[in-house]
Amino acid sequence: MSFDYDLFVIGGGSGGVRAARVAAAGGAKVGLAEESRLGGTCVIRGCVPKKLMVFASSYRETMNEALDYGWTVHAGNFDWTKFAVRLNAELDRLENVYQGLLSNSGVETFASRATLVDAHTIKLEADGTTKSAKHILIATGGRPVRPDAQYDASLGMVSDDIFNLPELPRKMLIVGGGYIACEFAGVMNGLGVDVTQFYRGAQILRGFDDEARGLVADQMCANGVDIHCGTDVLDMQERDGGIWVKASNGSEGVFDKVLFATGRTPNTDGLGLENTGVQLGRRGEIIVDDYSQTGQPSIYAIGDVTNRVNLTPVAIREGMAFVETVFNGNPTKVDHELIPSAVFTQPEMGTIGLSEEEARDQEPIHVYATSFKPMQQSFIGREARVMMKLVVSQKTDVVLGCHIVAPAAGEMIQLAGVAIKMGATKAQFDQVCAVHPTMSEELVTMKTPTRSA
Ligand code: NDP
Repeated sequence: MSFDYDLFVIGGGSGGVRAARVAAAGGAKVGLAEESRLGGTCVIRGCVPKKLMVFASSYRETMNEALDYGWTVHAGNFDWTKFAVRLNAELDRLENVYQGLLSNSGVETFASRATLVDAHTIKLEADGTTKSAKHILIATGGRPVRPDAQYDASLGMVSDDIFNLPELPRKMLIVGGGYIACEFAGVMNGLGVDVTQFYRGAQILRGFDDEARGLVADQMCANGVDIHCGTDVLDMQERDGGIWVKASNGSEGVFDKVLFATGRTPNTDGLGLENTGVQLGRRGEIIVDDYSQTGQPSIYAIGDVTNRVNLTPVAIREGMAFVETVFNGNPTKVDHELIPSAVFTQPEMGTIGLSEEEARDQEPIHVYATSFKPMQQSFIGREARVMMKLVVSQKTDVVLGCHIVAPAAGEMIQLAGVAIKMGATKAQFDQVCAVHPTMSEELVTMKTPTRSA
């Protein structure tokens, strides 16, 4: 049977683009459809613009520190419009880079929503044409969701909207306690917005190491974010030129903007999956095996649409493993163990492996942890603290987890992650000479356990 394409990819985000261009570079005939902008969540409305906003928001404190170091600083207010023009130009540039990567590898792209007609047929909704493909890869990602609430949640925005704000709000409420809520709380606070954050649970960043998230929460509050845990929105109305919010803790307030950072859901609605043998899970995610293959042998899925580990580098790896498996005859599973990641709060949190709580439930452990005022800030009388922590197996001495709360923790955990992924023991950490004076030298100089469990 002959097909129009060897591979047709639905979704032009990080995972889909990587799989498409690597398969095409290897000689496959590849088509790719994207209904929005090439680059997907990470490049257009996620990691990249978010990180640029993190940079923008950090200068206020940097300038304050510079003053105390003896500099004369002539800083004005933050100009959102100026920043937004530059941000949009950068996103346009990156989108062009993605288009170039695809074209140069011979991938044919379609600016259209694509749906599935059957196990080998795709319909391009823009013009109604159909294309056939031997293999189909679904890489449609996810999207932010508002709570299913009694009040009108459409009064609040989601993370996709934040990059297109015409002006910065003066007063903002952020609902949620996960990655996105905490990152934007720090960003907006740094840009001078008066930020209140509601989280329904007992402590933000559920699932991360307790000591690490406690320190992040303390520092966020010290930086000026007004965090209310155990608090949710009860009611919300347009009132007094803003959004009036009644909270479960009895408080009421009017905010210029409300951001719902209350989770994301896989983009599987209306894809035509019912025309194929692809199965969905409870959260609407596509169910795949270790090789990213769905129940329909010709259809694979990677990235956030499968709701495995929702991180860009993981989607890229899943895309590469898919190409290796299907086009290079080398069945390759993606390793989802020991993935380092960072939360770009202020200060950042870098983490890999088991939290102290998870490890303690698994086996006897030693915990090596230290929290201190870093030299750069302590010199000018700042109270901010950082934390370095290793969770170690008592039986094998293997480092099971590493948690860092500090400026540039994301950079540090990338490197600590290499050792931990290789199965390094605490003794091997200790064999490494410290780089002095740095914050991360503490990772190789903690001699006695802080506690054992
Ligand atoms: P998360 O799932 O991390 O957080 C969602 C938050 O919203 C949780 O605090 C959750 O509370 C709360 N919540 C959920 N539903 C409701 C509701 N109905 N009412 C009130 N609160 C609610 O999602 P995010 O959107 O923050 O991030 C999605 C994913 O994107 C992350 O898991 C991560 O994989 C990825 N990401 C990674 C980043 C990075 O690597 N730096 C940055 C941004 C995103 P509860 O804890 O009680 O469930």
